[in-house]
Amino acid sequence: MTGPIAKLSFWGVRGSTPTVDPATWRYGGNTPCVELIAPDGTQFILDCGTGLRMLGNRWGSGLNGAHADTHIFVTHYHWDHIQGLPFFAPLYDEKNEFQFYSFRSKFLGPDSLRQVLEKQMALPYFPVDFSAMNARRKFRELDGGESFTIGENRIATRWLNHPQGCLGFRIETPAGTLVYATDNEPGDAALDKNLRELAAGADIFINDAQFAPAQLAVNRKGWGHSSWREGVNVAREVNAKTLVLFHHDPDSNDRGIDEILQQAREEFDSVFAASEGMIITLGSANEPVQAHMPGSRTALRREAQFHARVSGLTAEGQKFDEATLVKDLSLQGALITLKHSPRMQSELQVTMETPTADGLQAMQLRGYVVRIEEGAEQGTTAVGVVFTD
Ligand SMILES: [Zn+2]
Ligand SMILES: [Zn+2]
Repeated sequence: MTGPIAKLSFWGVRGSTPTVDPATWRYGGNTPCVELIAPDGTQFILDCGTGLRMLGNRWGSGLNGAHADTHIFVTHYHWDHIQGLPFFAPLYDEKNEFQFYSFRSKFLGPDSLRQVLEKQMALPYFPVDFSAMNARRKFRELDGGESFTIGENRIATRWLNHPQGCLGFRIETPAGTLVYATDNEPGDAALDKNLRELAAGADIFINDAQFAPAQLAVNRKGWGHSSWREGVNVAREVNAKTLVLFHHDPDSNDRGIDEILQQAREEFDSVFAASEGMIITLGSANEPVQAHMPGSRTALRREAQFHARVSGLTAEGQKFDEATLVKDLSLQGALITLKHSPRMQSELQVTMETPTADGLQAMQLRGYVVRIEEGAEQGTTAVGVVFTD
């Protein structure tokens, strides 16, 4: 029996400014954009960073069908949360209709979000103006502390601690509760309380984790961001089930985020580091939340037959080491069938025997688990890895 299912997709996870440095490729360089498809088909888009362009490009494709009802929530007006809007192709199509939500900024006055959109596209900053956007658009102003329903989903808002203000959103669907709390810094008693109210008992709690705890304590204090440790503390206090570390610093490379994730996992069991393309399904009752990356980012695979030894940690944290065949290999990764089920976003050592002129040679690779599925044979797991270095 399957209950209601909601699908959460990460299109942009980077904070402050996009990155194209290859050392940030694995987690991704687009700025915040998260999508939730609720069980009733309502589509929620949370923030309009550069990740929104990618979402728009998939519009109407099998992966992401066009939705009659799209609700776009903007947390605040900093560049990294609005910059994808002019590049969101569905806004130029008169067949589409969007309902936008954001707050009245004291710097902008009434209709803040509409003004932001118009000014973003004002000459000479953009080649066409706002009137080129033919989709129907409606704007609703929100305040912190509101709650209302959209379809069968309940929405709640709270103010968070961030320069010029930022709203956090809680979306309760029949498949589970998502809390989106990007761009917030601990240290203001009333706003800290808001964050806890918002995150209480959430199935998925997405929290700002831009800085290391030490940075946050000293030279990044007052910048409006948080750390993995704060996320863990809040998740523990309010019984959030899964924590997603979000809004990665543009100066954090993949190795740095690996480390942050590892530290967080030592303190809290269910943690993921948001990565571009990651999908989390809500609603599989009583099962641990599973995240996976669709094949598209590890595409261009070739059929192969390499003997390999794979060692790593299982989802339960046990060490394992086993022999297998690698049948599906690309320059960036491989799909490996294992009897063990490794932990998502953990590291695997893969030693492959490769034929050379002098016979077989062992090739040592470090892989990073991006995808876990049931294997074709019973009792096996198909594990997608990206080779790191
Ligand atoms: Zn931001
Ligand atoms: Zn911000």
